[in-house]
Amino acid sequence: ATPTAVMVATGVGANNGVLIKGGDALERAQKIKYVIFDKTGTLTQGKATVTTAKVFTGMDRGEFLRLVASAEASSEHPLAKAIMEYARHFHFFDEPSATKDSPKHNKETNSGWLFDVLEFSALPGKGVQCFIDGKLLLVGNRKLITESGITIPTHVEDFLVELEESAKTGILVAYDCSLIGVLGVADPLKREAAVVVEGLKKMNVMPVMVTGDNWRTARAVAREVGIQDVMAEVMPAGKADVVRSFQKDGSVVAMVGDGINDSPALAASDVGMAIGAGTDIAIEAADYVLMRNNLEDVITAIDLSRKTFARIR
Ligand code: ADP
Ligand code: MG
Repeated sequence: ATPTAVMVATGVGANNGVLIKGGDALERAQKIKYVIFDKTGTLTQGKATVTTAKVFTGMDRGEFLRLVASAEASSEHPLAKAIMEYARHFHFFDEPSATKDSPKHNKETNSGWLFDVLEFSALPGKGVQCFIDGKLLLVGNRKLITESGITIPTHVEDFLVELEESAKTGILVAYDCSLIGVLGVADPLKREAAVVVEGLKKMNVMPVMVTGDNWRTARAVAREVGIQDVMAEVMPAGKADVVRSFQKDGSVVAMVGDGINDSPALAASDVGMAIGAGTDIAIEAADYVLMRNNLEDVITAIDLSRKTFARIR
């Protein structure tokens, strides 16, 4: 392709909301063999909502949700946003007013309804932890709970499995060394996701899904979208290793992602594609930015490259 053809293609891309950072990236896209999709916020809408909140102890529901929200208030994670939303709604609209004046209520520091939190820390790929009322509170996945030496009772595990088989993410809550409840979070697929996966297969491009979420939820989502190749429970740093493992035989690998977690994988891939609505760090690490946040543009990008370079192949 001539420099003019590359310029024209870049312009066509831009008009369709596909920003291409340079001619090399445009050229590499024609040879893509694998497209590795991040799950949350890429294949899914990234608009998580809590569908279930189950308390396993005698704890009051409002108190349970306020504990969880107090821990998640300092987290930037999409799951944290969903939990905050749910807990806030329950507290201000559903909770019997009698429980509202808890002695632990701190009006100055916590916008009036959350508990005081000490030693908050976010554990990427696992969840969050902090101290409330001198006791350790953990909110996150199995790994977070079991690594802290807390056992997950069978009836809780059964409940988790049920959530996960219906493509939901189960979030465990442990307080003062025992498991007190579970939240179920749903994040629907993007409308076009399954069609795009099907389209890629027709173009001889293999779709793959990578996620930090648990295997059962990952498989359920993959089944819905039509992806056979799944890598789950991948720690944030591990996504780049997944990319490299697909590159081993010389295959050209594209990574599509939106999160901070995805940026090392976007950088490691041959063709990194960031969702325009994603974090700035992901956008910086990518070769392509899909401004319309529409997965169909993954196909547009490959098509554009194939057409631009067809004559000289
Ligand atoms: P993904 O690759 O799907 O974006 P992450 O690596 O961000 O996933 O997170 C993996 C898992 O860690 C989540 O599915 C969740 O179980 C747990 N997790 C991470 N952050 C939080 C949080 N703030 N609250 C609860 N759970 C969390
Ligand atoms: Mg994501």
